[in-house]
Amino acid sequence: MKKIGVCPLCGGEAVFFRLIETWEPPLRILRCVGCGFQFQDVKTEESLHWYGEGYYTGQGVYTYQDERQNKHASMAVWKARVRALKRMDKSKGEKRWLDVGCAFGGLLEGAVAFGYEPYGLEVSEYAGGYAQQIFPGRIWIGNVEDYVLPKDFFSVVSMVEVIEHLGHPLRALENIYHALQPGGVLLVQTADMDGLQARLKGSSYHYYLPGHLSYFDRHNLASALKRVGFSRVKFVGGVEFGLLPKLVKSRALFRSIWDYRHWVRIALYHMASKVTIGPWHLTSSMVMIAWK
Ligand SMILES: [Zn+2]
Repeated sequence: MKKIGVCPLCGGEAVFFRLIETWEPPLRILRCVGCGFQFQDVKTEESLHWYGEGYYTGQGVYTYQDERQNKHASMAVWKARVRALKRMDKSKGEKRWLDVGCAFGGLLEGAVAFGYEPYGLEVSEYAGGYAQQIFPGRIWIGNVEDYVLPKDFFSVVSMVEVIEHLGHPLRALENIYHALQPGGVLLVQTADMDGLQARLKGSSYHYYLPGHLSYFDRHNLASALKRVGFSRVKFVGGVEFGLLPKLVKSRALFRSIWDYRHWVRIALYHMASKVTIGPWHLTSSMVMIAWK
């Protein structure tokens, strides 16, 4: 196969991997021969036009659910998340939380409830502008790949479903590493392209989206974090918190008793996300925890 690109994660040789024709224009996915990292040959800057108001309100080509519609219920998940991370946080300095891709600031409200000073970084002026009204002076508008962050400042940095949107994820991880206090902890949630779900679905895997530029697996994400300097890295299948907050969150959308059947599906998925068969993880949900 002919080399057609350079892997943004390890600098290795990348070749054409697959065309995702469910999108117009189709997405061209390249894959690193060395580390298996998959990526779209698009720069982050070229993709930023996706994150206007339409992205958050359902008017865009592809969209994100506006968390404000379901805020009360989502708070159960945010608080469960913060509680879990607080236990892992080994930093000794001031307790400060940075949520990268903080959108409307929901997770940060959970962080405040557990004694963290909240900080957010958001590329979207639409979503970040809203968060700025809740946390004046604490929300920065910018891209984590090049935004100048204070050094050794945060005890926790969270990046939930954000890293796949970046064209230069390694630069983002380096930037975050410098901004963390020693003992501080980073949470990265994204898909594991080596999970069985992604492998079985192939080109029709729903994670292939125009705004998703980077596709990791648990091996290449862990080695990138180590290379950046993180002293310990831990893979968590699914999410780092329990099933109950997920059930509470989903219930807010139920309209009748019959809707409780969704709990069966959610519970099965949650259990499946903890299962590994041979070298494969059953679902493709991945949370990676890294300590500085
Ligand atoms: Zn690579």
